[in-house]
Amino acid sequence: MSKIYFIDVTNRDGVQTANLGLSKLEKTMINMYLNEMGVFQSEFGFPTTKHESLYLQANLELAERGILKPIRLGGWVRAVVADVERAFDLVPNIKHLNISISTSDQMLQGKFGGSKTQEDVIFMMVDAVEAARDHGAETIGVNAEDASRTGIDFLVRFGLAAREHGADRLRYCDTLGYDNAFTIYESTKILAESIGIPIELHCHGDLGMAVANSLAGAKGAIDGGQDAYINTTLNGIGERAGNADLIATTLALTKSKGFAKKYKLGKQIDLTKAWKVSKFASYAFRVPIPINQPGVGANAFAHSSGIHADGVLKDPENYELYSFDELGRGEPELVETGREICSGQYIGISGFSHIMGQMEVSFEDDKHAEEILELARYANVEAQKPLVEDELLFIAKYPRIAKKLLTMRPLEKPVLDIAVPTA
Ligand SMILES: [Zn+2]
Repeated sequence: MSKIYFIDVTNRDGVQTANLGLSKLEKTMINMYLNEMGVFQSEFGFPTTKHESLYLQANLELAERGILKPIRLGGWVRAVVADVERAFDLVPNIKHLNISISTSDQMLQGKFGGSKTQEDVIFMMVDAVEAARDHGAETIGVNAEDASRTGIDFLVRFGLAAREHGADRLRYCDTLGYDNAFTIYESTKILAESIGIPIELHCHGDLGMAVANSLAGAKGAIDGGQDAYINTTLNGIGERAGNADLIATTLALTKSKGFAKKYKLGKQIDLTKAWKVSKFASYAFRVPIPINQPGVGANAFAHSSGIHADGVLKDPENYELYSFDELGRGEPELVETGREICSGQYIGISGFSHIMGQMEVSFEDDKHAEEILELARYANVEAQKPLVEDELLFIAKYPRIAKKLLTMRPLEKPVLDIAVPTA
């Protein structure tokens, strides 16, 4: 039977969210956490965006050194040959790409102003796929943006052309969150049956159905005989109303009626990391976790009404589908209520050595300590918030990689200041 995999897009869709962003170290930590959790692939950024080049290269280096392994790191590019070429120019060792183009009539009219036909869209996609193959891409997903508002016949033609030219998966993007569980099931089943390659589900929550649609879409792909790849983000952070949350989707796949035990994950997700990872994403994005968030919300295991409290004390299964320790909750959290030394951008050697000493990190000598401290200061400047323990440990362990993540090179050659005339 076909299986379900996860492609997390926090570092692409998540950071595209209005008013939100992540530092390059935070993005790297997310890739590390996704790898620890067993996520199949992280869409780790935009290889055509210059300020991401060193971050992407540094993460690929972590992959090559076996540190970010077995997770795959995939980039997102537009279906434009020049963009594919630029991606390999800026990030030569990138191996996995998703190539994206709009397919709906709405977008052909509204976005391209009617200048492109459906055939043009197919040609552009095919040319981009071939260019990616020529440059050595190992796997290619082809994204049909606004697939849910695209006629199914055209989607089938688009998908068949993608397959014929060597694409490995078709990403069905419910870009506006317009589908429901019934319509997406129908579409993905037809696509899986007619195209014969795995289907990716990219669902948004504008109508509150991102997780439900991801499940239904995956069921459609599997019933159509193909593997399904669900796109998720941490805490469901994504454009507008967000994407399918990784933890909620995992819970839904493994615990819900009719799915549990029937549909299989290609790679098991280690939910015991859920609590920690979700809290990190919340801290990094500066977005609180809603108290009613599945699994990781403050109230997810809180019972106060008499009947429920009595019932759950007699047997947790009376009112809970899963237990808090499955999600890595339950350890008492020690909150510093007295003196606190944080790692800020102006921290000195003594405060820094104190923090690192608490984590049992020792330095060879003062010079070594100074070097790591300097990197931690820069990382603080970029994140504009104190670093968490795992970030400090990462810097101490991989200082050269950290340096690469923190390096910005906006100018190729020095430019002269141009004086702005003042009145
Ligand atoms: Zn999206």
